[in-house]
Amino acid sequence: MMSAFLKKLLFVRQFSIEDGKIEMLGKREIMLPSNILFWMQAQNKQTYELSKQMTIESVKEFGKKIGSSEEGMIKNMKEIYETFGLGPLEINDLKNEKKEATITIKDSSMAKEYMRYNKGVAKTGQCELVAGILAGMFSFLFNADVNAIETKCLSTGSPSCIFSIGKGVR
Ligand SMILES: [Zn+2]
Repeated sequence: MMSAFLKKLLFVRQFSIEDGKIEMLGKREIMLPSNILFWMQAQNKQTYELSKQMTIESVKEFGKKIGSSEEGMIKNMKEIYETFGLGPLEINDLKNEKKEATITIKDSSMAKEYMRYNKGVAKTGQCELVAGILAGMFSFLFNADVNAIETKCLSTGSPSCIFSIGKGVR
């Protein structure tokens, strides 16, 4: 099945897979298996910083295309995140004035990949790529430079991955 958000994008011609190209909201995308992304993350010590900076760049472009109220923007960011297949995103605690939030990702693809490959649980969280993406998204949404840190991870035996967003979290 396809999400309502993706159906909407298709309807307004903001999503296409054609001639070996995938475009979403005017931006070229590449669909990669999660195991490839997981190993690229594992090999790169700068995963967090890079995914944060690149997400900021991308969401600025997306923001121009789907510009709306603050509340609408948060909903759109959540739907874009989920369209990338990184797992369902839930905002638990949003403090706009403090520029803080707590995010739950259920069923993180990156954590799942760790467990599939290692056939067991990890000692530390495995979702640096996700942390970077969340930091980028919320830096955009809060209009301030914030960071994200994974405080609980599915891969270490927690029921889901929890991220703290804020200025001094890492
Ligand atoms: Zn995780």
